[in-house]
Amino acid sequence: MLRHTRPKGTQDFIPPVSQQKLLVENTFRDLAVIYGFQEIVTPTFEHTELFIKSSGTGSDIVIKEMYSFQDRSQRSLTLKPEGTPGVIRAVLENRLVLPARLYYITPCFRYSRPQKGRYREFYQLGIEALGEASARTDAELIHFGVRFFSRLNIAGLTVMVNSIGCRTCRQDYREKLLTFLRLNREALCPDCQQRIEVNPLRVLDCKNDHCQTMLQKAPVPREYLCSDCQTHFTIVINELTARQLPYRIDDHLVRGLDYYNRTTFEFVSDKLGAQNSLGGGGRYDYLIEELGGPPTPASGLAIGLERTMLAMPQLEVPTGRRQLVFVIWTSENELRTAVDLTDRLREAGIPAQLSFDSPKLKRQLHLADLADAAFAVIVGEEELKRGVYGLKNLTTGEQIELPAPELISRLKPLLAV
Ligand SMILES: [Zn+2]
Ligand SMILES: [Zn+2]
Repeated sequence: MLRHTRPKGTQDFIPPVSQQKLLVENTFRDLAVIYGFQEIVTPTFEHTELFIKSSGTGSDIVIKEMYSFQDRSQRSLTLKPEGTPGVIRAVLENRLVLPARLYYITPCFRYSRPQKGRYREFYQLGIEALGEASARTDAELIHFGVRFFSRLNIAGLTVMVNSIGCRTCRQDYREKLLTFLRLNREALCPDCQQRIEVNPLRVLDCKNDHCQTMLQKAPVPREYLCSDCQTHFTIVINELTARQLPYRIDDHLVRGLDYYNRTTFEFVSDKLGAQNSLGGGGRYDYLIEELGGPPTPASGLAIGLERTMLAMPQLEVPTGRRQLVFVIWTSENELRTAVDLTDRLREAGIPAQLSFDSPKLKRQLHLADLADAAFAVIVGEEELKRGVYGLKNLTTGEQIELPAPELISRLKPLLAV
């Protein structure tokens, strides 16, 4: 019986999965920098009001998913359920000059039902283009996402795109939708019946089959766009076409957050089954103002790390060895030389390790094996006198001698990272 286990809905990233996580993060980081984004790091928890104000009181996040707690001074704090609100808060508080392009990689927390690829602690990779009003920015962010997934060799990707209008035209639409939903209340699932009065738009993307069938006759936001919103959407679509991106218009895509307006989009992969979303985003021209800043247009996206890892081609668990040299010494007299050699290997970019704990050759070879090292370099008294090191291939067991000055230049092409 294990004494301690991880909390429900969390996961450990152990090697080689941790390696894969790093690859996803580095790919995101590299791409963000290429697109002109700079990193922003904000606290893991914020004042609870920030999330209530930004996600909206009617959102699932605020109603049932936040990890909120009181600290010892009775402040209500919440572990961030998503990346954007903290970024906006920090931008305003630190008076960043806008426009600004920012990216983040952060753990987020939501008390939701754990499912495949969905955790209570999960990582979001996000970019925010603050102060950019153009529809072309929305298209560029979508292109960023497509490029990111393609760099990770994720196949079968489609971008679902929609427009949910602005403050003005959404009001008209909302009335029409409400009328329709109230008339059909009985046909909706219990969740949707509650959403009608609180957040009717959310009903549109309910995953329940009955709701979806009934909603096929519902009015959709795009039919009610004002002419500015219509133009904005047309530019997004034309730009996606010009960039030859794999998109589809989805009239029911509203996303789960209250702060979006106009463009919404979601990346889906046919590799993931029912929970097929890898991430998404949209325009949020009102959020900065809502949080106390000047009216500022903005657009962003967030990608789920865990889903992305699920959609990636299965990582091949190496049947061979790690790119690692284990330096082995045979008596205390050789320890100094072994330490210096290990250091020179590392300096040359070759991963190297040694054990200080036991002078026994057999024990050290066993440790090298446990570490999955590709080679062991043996620093022995006899060998040192002749100016050579022993080099043992730990896969084949084959051992050769190499003149000391040649060791690094021979190993470097094989192992350097
Ligand atoms: Zn509009
Ligand atoms: Zn429903």
